Amino acid sequence: MGEHIHTGVVIVGTGFSGLGMAIRLRQAGRADFVLLEKADEVGGTWRDNTYPGCACDIQSHMYSFSFEQKPDWTRSYAPQPEIRQYLHDVAAKWELPRFTRFGVEVTGARWDEQENRWHVATANGDTYVARFLVAGIGALHIPSVPALPGIERFQGRTFHSARWDHDFDLTGKRVAVIGTGASAVQFVPEIAPKVAELTLFQRTPPWVMPKPDHPMPDWSRRLFARVPGTQRAYRHFLYWVNEVRAVGFNGHQGILKYASKVAAHNIRRSVRDPELVRKLTPDYVMGCKRVLISNDYYPTFNRANVHLDTTGIAEVREHSVIGNDGREHQVDAIIYGTGFHVTDSYDYLSITGVNGLDLAGHWRAHGINTHLGITVADFPNLFFLLGPNTGLGHNSVVFMIESQVGYIADAIRLTDRHRAAALNTRHSAQESFNADIQRKLANGVWSKGGCTSWYLDSHGVNRTVWPGFTWRYWLRTRKLDPADFELTVQAQGRNSTQALTTH
Ligand SMILES: Cc1cc2nc3c(=O)[nH]c(=O)nc-3n(C[C@H](O)[C@H](O)[C@H](O)COP(=O)(O)OP(=O)(O)OC[C@H]3O[C@@H](n4cnc5c(N)ncnc54)[C@H](O)[C@@H]3O)c2cc1C
Repeated sequence: MGEHIHTGVVIVGTGFSGLGMAIRLRQAGRADFVLLEKADEVGGTWRDNTYPGCACDIQSHMYSFSFEQKPDWTRSYAPQPEIRQYLHDVAAKWELPRFTRFGVEVTGARWDEQENRWHVATANGDTYVARFLVAGIGALHIPSVPALPGIERFQGRTFHSARWDHDFDLTGKRVAVIGTGASAVQFVPEIAPKVAELTLFQRTPPWVMPKPDHPMPDWSRRLFARVPGTQRAYRHFLYWVNEVRAVGFNGHQGILKYASKVAAHNIRRSVRDPELVRKLTPDYVMGCKRVLISNDYYPTFNRANVHLDTTGIAEVREHSVIGNDGREHQVDAIIYGTGFHVTDSYDYLSITGVNGLDLAGHWRAHGINTHLGITVADFPNLFFLLGPNTGLGHNSVVFMIESQVGYIADAIRLTDRHRAAALNTRHSAQESFNADIQRKLANGVWSKGGCTSWYLDSHGVNRTVWPGFTWRYWLRTRKLDPADFELTVQAQGRNSTQALTTH
């Protein structure tokens, strides 16, 4: 029988989301919260992904907190160790490790309607009892590994890019890489010169654009450190450069078709073998899947030890992978660059709301529905960070996270100010948000671009991406609309509902 630990707010996760939420609460003068993190250090994505070549693909000066800017990023797109260190430094500055219980995995949460409290269950048996629950559990966090026929017979090493096996020296080894997503595009060029043979199994080719990556010159680092406002101005510039891309993703596909032509030219310029060029050139509109950036991905295919298989995997044997064309590739290791459980990531947590409603089951039956990707009707005082339909293909998600933590802090403040027990999302608000967002998504490249992707759920509905400009999301979350919620007020042990006002 574990302990019951009482607190005001439970925040799950210490990636950009959880840390951002905790800092926002500290800024509001609160100390009644606890961060629960299943790993033994902060960092989330940037702690887990240690594969060779891992780096951000949004400019570092944009992919960081606006209130914790770092003048001395070494490159325009910082490598993973530097982003990980940045998150450590930010957490230390705000003294967040002392608010964090590391090695604590949340297994589920249950809303108790009598107490108006969340009971947050953990793998070690302790229960955290809190008024508010914030899930910063990450959308790209649980590795997705395909069930390859015969894999149980394989005698070599296997690992996923997000769990890189650094004890396994790839030098001189024969390697199969499965998948051609954002991670594979980064690590394939890094490992290709080391390994004896590399066979890349590609289902659908990604669009890969040149990466404007360069070391940050000393003068700019000095300027950002010494002249107030210059880094902020540079960040604004990057923000708007990225925002322009949303125009194409959202219906103006002429722009994307033109960009696809430029990108196709880039492939022809970089890869010598015309047959490989054909296989590497996507047949869908750019943006339908996440657009990737790299300067060394395409040239890697000019190497004699790199092979591209587009037939798919028929079977895995003790020491080989057999393609659907019948070719047998002898391999010592299989590396999965197969991404993450995205739209089904919520299945891994058991969250129960009003009347015992099970969140994952409810979403499976009726589709994922939220208000602003943050709150869910019938799940009072529960908030998601980077929840459904708030991911991005064109700009930094840290911008979205900052909008969300401000909104959530406001929601908590208003609930307290009304001395209310709970804040409930109105069904009408949630329905109108979802209808609006799905209408916009229907015109976007994700639906009309001629591909399937991890943006879509098993019903083909986009539950991942925010359709359009991020400043529109900022506008919608800048101030909480009281009409979207009602309050539960408790008097003499009985709950009653009350309207919410901003006063
Ligand atoms: C390789 C890679 C590169 C990326 N590059 C970019 C980029 O350039 N630009 C961009 O905008 N986005 C990028 N992303 C997306 C990236 O995931 C987000 O930008 C951001 O890091 C998400 O932060 P988060 O805190 O929401 O989630 P995460 O960083 O995934 O953190 C979630 C945390 O919650 C913890 N956790 C999860 N479940 C539990 C549980 N049940 N109990 C306790 N703790 C739990 C995890 O251990 C983790 O620490 C990238 C993603 C990957 C994988």
